[in-house]
Amino acid sequence: MRIVLRGARLIDGTGRPPQDETAVVLEGSRIVAVAPQGEVGVPQGAQVYDLGGKTLLPGLIDCHVHISTEPDADPARRFRDESDLLLTLRGAKNAWRCLQAGYTTLRSLGARGLVDIEIKRAIEMGIVEGSRLLVAGRLLTMTGGHGHYMGYEVDGPDQLRQAAREEIKRGADVVKLMATGGILTPGVEPGSAQLTLEEMRAAIEEAHKAGKKTSAHAQGSEGIKNAILAGIDSIEHGIFLTDEIIDLMLERKVFLVPTLPPSHYFLLEGRKRGIPEYIIQKAERVDEARYQSLEKARRAGVLIAAGSDAGTPLNAHGENALELELLVRSGFTPMEVIQAATSRAAELLGRQDLGRIEVGKTADLVVVDGDPLLDMSVLRRKVNLVFKDGQLVSGKSLL
Ligand SMILES: [Zn+2]
Repeated sequence: MRIVLRGARLIDGTGRPPQDETAVVLEGSRIVAVAPQGEVGVPQGAQVYDLGGKTLLPGLIDCHVHISTEPDADPARRFRDESDLLLTLRGAKNAWRCLQAGYTTLRSLGARGLVDIEIKRAIEMGIVEGSRLLVAGRLLTMTGGHGHYMGYEVDGPDQLRQAAREEIKRGADVVKLMATGGILTPGVEPGSAQLTLEEMRAAIEEAHKAGKKTSAHAQGSEGIKNAILAGIDSIEHGIFLTDEIIDLMLERKVFLVPTLPPSHYFLLEGRKRGIPEYIIQKAERVDEARYQSLEKARRAGVLIAAGSDAGTPLNAHGENALELELLVRSGFTPMEVIQAATSRAAELLGRQDLGRIEVGKTADLVVVDGDPLLDMSVLRRKVNLVFKDGQLVSGKSLL
C-alpha cells in the first residue's frame, strides 16, 4: 500500500531550505516520491495524510544513548541490583519510548553483557517495537577505567584486539573505547588519558577490517588525540579540544558527538535530585571548557552528530531532543542542528539510507506541529506521527 503525506512543510535533512506544500509518497519501506503537492496524484487505495501547518522531517537519529540504563542519580545502581534479564526489558521499554518521541534510530554505546545486542535483535525480529538500534555491546575500558562497572576491562593491544573481535562476533555494530576518564565513575578524572594509542589502534583495526565503526569516550586532550591518531571515527564528549586536535579532526573527518544534556541536568538540578557530589563537582570543573571546545569546533566546521547520552543520571530516554535545543542555545543554526540529528548522524553510522527525505531512502519520518526552525522544542514536545520503515508506529489513533 502507498502512503501519501501531503501539505506539510518539508525539511529533508540535507540542509536544503524548507519547502512548503509538499507531497512525500511511501511504498513498502521506501520513499518513492518527493515533489510539490500539485505534482503528485493520489494512487487508488493510498492512505492519505493531510499535514497542513505541520512539518515533516526525517526520523531523528541519536548517536549516543545507553538503551538499557535508567536516569538514576547513582549510575551504577542497576548494575549492582538488577540482572541482565531485567536490564533487557528496561532497554526494550526505552527503545519504544524513543521511537514514540520521533527517534527512529539510536546508537547504544555500552551495556552489560549481551543486553543491548539482544534488544536490537528483538526489535529486528518484531518481538517488541522500538527504534532501530546500532549497538556496541560491552564498552572496552582499561582495568579500573571509566565505566568499568558496566564494561569489559581489557589491557594491552592483544587483549583489546581480542575484545573487539569478541564484541563483533557477538553482534556489535560499533566498537566503543574509553580513551579517558570521565564524570560518572568515582575516582577517575575526565582529563586523564586511559586506553593507550596502541591499545586503541589494535581494536580499531579489527573493527575497520570487519566494516564496523568505532567510537571513543574522550574528554581530556591527550586521550582525544590518542583516539584520533589510532583511527577513531567519532569523539564522544570532546571536552578539551585544542587547535591541533581540531585540525586533526577536520583532516581525518572525525565526528564530534557533544552530548550536552547530562551536565545540563547536573548543574541545573543535580544537588536537589540527589546526584552524588563527586559527579557535580567534576561537571562544574569542566563545563566552561566543554562549551569553549564546542564553539571552537563549530567555527572550524568539525562534523557534528547529535547524541544525548540518554540513560545517564536525570537524562531520560524519550527526552533525547532536549539536546537539540541545547545545541541551538550554544550557537548552531536550527538547520545545522537538524542535520546533526539526521543526515550527518546517518553518515557517522555508515547508514546512507537513513537521515534524508529523498527518493530511494528508507521511509523513516516524523511529523511535528509547528516549525522546529523557529522553535526547536517542538521536536521534544509536539511529535505527532512517526513512521519507521514505512510503517506508522506512533500516532495510530489519528487513523
Ligand atoms: Zn555515554
